[in-house]
Amino acid sequence: MLYPTPIAKLIESFAKLPGIGIKTATRLAFYTIGMKDEEVNDFAKNLLAAKRELTYCSICGNLTDVDPCNICSDDSRDQSIILVVEDSKDVSAMEKIQEYHGLYHVLHGLISPMNGVGPDDINLKKLLTRLQEESDINEVIIATNTTADGEATSMYISRVLKPAGIKVTRLARGLAVGSDIEYADEVTLLRAIENRTEL
Ligand SMILES: [Zn+2]
Repeated sequence: MLYPTPIAKLIESFAKLPGIGIKTATRLAFYTIGMKDEEVNDFAKNLLAAKRELTYCSICGNLTDVDPCNICSDDSRDQSIILVVEDSKDVSAMEKIQEYHGLYHVLHGLISPMNGVGPDDINLKKLLTRLQEESDINEVIIATNTTADGEATSMYISRVLKPAGIKVTRLARGLAVGSDIEYADEVTLLRAIENRTEL
């Protein structure tokens, strides 16, 4: 690279973002340099603040700036249902449709036998602890994606929970195989919740 070090480094940083190749990173870096000082300051400040001020809810694992998160500390929500998702983006997708009023549990990953990711490598133990400690819960809805890993995770959870007498359901197959909850449209998502099936 023949760029001065500061811009070369900036390009390198942008290129680390998902979906950003070196060409786009270069374009973004040059764009940033052309921005007003004030805008660049805000940008840098927001990056740092997001990293510094956000944490994971100690109860559900959702991304939050207050612990417990706003959902876990909301008494008006249905405390008898937990919806299990892969990551925080899925929580946002569900909240957007405003039809689900229970609690969540964020796994931060999926069990992946192919990649050597086991139950202990994701935020699963805490779900089991919650179920033991919070006796109000009578249904766990598994909303992992319908990929092989999503299915492996769903099967594992239902195998562990069912003997404990907890009703375990799975979102209906309104979602296409391999589709992402994060990108599902609201009608599809709503139908998937309404038509969930017991495992
Ligand atoms: Zn929470």
